[in-house]
Amino acid sequence: MPNNEEQTKECTKCGQEKPLSGFYKNKMRRFGVRSQCKVCVLAQMKQYRQENRDKVLEQKKQYRQKNKDKIVEREKQHYQENKDKILEQKKQYYQKNKDKISERVKQYRQENKDKISAQNKQYRQNLPSMIYEIHNTITKQIYVGQTSYGRQRWNGHKHKLRKGIHGNPQLQKDWDKWGKDAFRFNIVEELPCDFNTEQLLEKEAALMLEHISNGAKLYNEDIPE
Ligand SMILES: [Zn+2]
Repeated sequence: MPNNEEQTKECTKCGQEKPLSGFYKNKMRRFGVRSQCKVCVLAQMKQYRQENRDKVLEQKKQYRQKNKDKIVEREKQHYQENKDKILEQKKQYYQKNKDKISERVKQYRQENKDKISAQNKQYRQNLPSMIYEIHNTITKQIYVGQTSYGRQRWNGHKHKLRKGIHGNPQLQKDWDKWGKDAFRFNIVEELPCDFNTEQLLEKEAALMLEHISNGAKLYNEDIPE
């Protein structure tokens, strides 16, 4: 039996004498390896890819389309297994290219101003209407509200409270006193984005009255009759 470590073979392309480990395996061939060495095979593959760029890209595209589910699953698994590494790389890339990225974002926003504002408008229009409450988990006092801007309304409240300019003085006072962690946003009822405003106000009023009749204290100043 020949020792594979010492066995060598001549590459039919470059003519160099190389150990068998320098060749890709091919069971059909003599010595069980391809006739050309790894270096030559790779060089040829590279040349082929360069000369047939469009064809190769098309093949890749077709492969991706055919194996979409498999590829997505594989990428998902890869991400899960390497999450920390990937996030760290992304962070480092961002830190290194911060100025370049923010410049690019700024430029994109300027160039697509109309498109972005139309998208934002559509996004807001599609947000659900809702009846919501803001709970002070310490004092149990409740703010009842209605909105056609979905959860964004909560962000609006928080933004004003953080800045100290909320329209409800008592809520602002408690936010300053207890801090944001004392408050919970609670969706009572989610409704279609085009839900009738009057009915929304009626639902809001009904909820306020229910709380009052249960002895709860409300932040709302305008309590319905
Ligand atoms: Zn070779």
